[in-house]
Amino acid sequence: MGRVSIVRSAKAPKDAEIKGLVKKSIDLVGGLGSVVKKGDVVALKPNVVTGRVSKPGVLTDKRIIEAMITLCQEAGASEVQVVEGSGYFTPTDEALEKSGVKAAAEALGASVVNVDKDELIEIPVPGHIIIDKIQVSKSFMGADVRINMPVMKTHDQLLVTLGVKNLKGVIPKTWKRIFHRIGLVKAVVDLSRVVPIDLTVLDAVNAMEGLGPSFGEVVPLNTLMASKDLWSLDLAASRVMGFDVEELDYLKEGLRIGLFDPKKLEIVGEPIEKVARKFKRPPTDLEFGEGITVISDGACSACRGTIHSIVYDLEQMKKMGEIRDLFIVVGANAKVPKGLKNTPIVMGTCLKAQEEEGCYVVGCPPNNDQMLAAIRKVCKLA
Ligand code: SF4
Repeated sequence: MGRVSIVRSAKAPKDAEIKGLVKKSIDLVGGLGSVVKKGDVVALKPNVVTGRVSKPGVLTDKRIIEAMITLCQEAGASEVQVVEGSGYFTPTDEALEKSGVKAAAEALGASVVNVDKDELIEIPVPGHIIIDKIQVSKSFMGADVRINMPVMKTHDQLLVTLGVKNLKGVIPKTWKRIFHRIGLVKAVVDLSRVVPIDLTVLDAVNAMEGLGPSFGEVVPLNTLMASKDLWSLDLAASRVMGFDVEELDYLKEGLRIGLFDPKKLEIVGEPIEKVARKFKRPPTDLEFGEGITVISDGACSACRGTIHSIVYDLEQMKKMGEIRDLFIVVGANAKVPKGLKNTPIVMGTCLKAQEEEGCYVVGCPPNNDQMLAAIRKVCKLA
């Protein structure tokens, strides 16, 4: 335990090179044959958080998913499943289709499981730190082998999203909301304790810095990392991104309860120093420039992410320049101020008690279309 491989291509890897890189990263931690046996059902968990933003670094590179499917089949898997539940903003079927992951997987003979439609099983969390039982995709838990395939990204709430956070895709959206309400950091730590992962292959071919997990800047690292130890992989990857354990609450929590031991970390392949760079940190405030004021107190990352996503939409629609005096009030502890220059948008179910104080948008979180309709109304956009 504790061994993590790092492989790097000198240039952006071509399609034909991807499979070799994936294989090399796994060979350095014991090879796929040590994980997948003949006849096994293998579940792959890539990151297909959305289908709406298609730039590199947002989703697990489709070529890496294809390579992994083929490698598992070559190792003797009787069935390979690609299992995913996308983020709030996109129905999972849409994410899997728009990203091209569904078509690519099915073309290779793999099946695709939408976690939001899958049967769930409830798993108790022994010695839980925040949640005593969690409902998880039955397909994922029922597989003989589970392979995690995250992307290296910054994240607006956890600061990074790597292997541990990627597991959130094996719970449905209803449970994602619960996680955000009770506190994402401890909830994902509890989740990681009930979802055994046999192998993690981290896509850092194109990583993301700044406003992750969807709207940041692409970092072409041309790198893959692999480990049989999920937490050691996250420790090594966070160091590649220039983070210290002390900065990352979920790693601190994992360390506190003994889920990994930094002294046992063993890097094989490229040394961390050779690939490391200091990733730009995600903004922790909600400032979007002139014309937009977000009054936030206790907002979950789901609503914060929705606001980021809407600003992205407005930019794409070339409407940002027309926004004047937009006030968004968000978060369970927020109070709608009096005397604002414009009618505020009161965002989300947790502010229902103040719905009369502005233009109320229902939802937990509200969806983009509803928010955009409200913005059009209060800002009188064409
Ligand atoms: S509506 Fe409130 S409780 Fe629901 S996601 Fe937004 S901030 Fe959290």
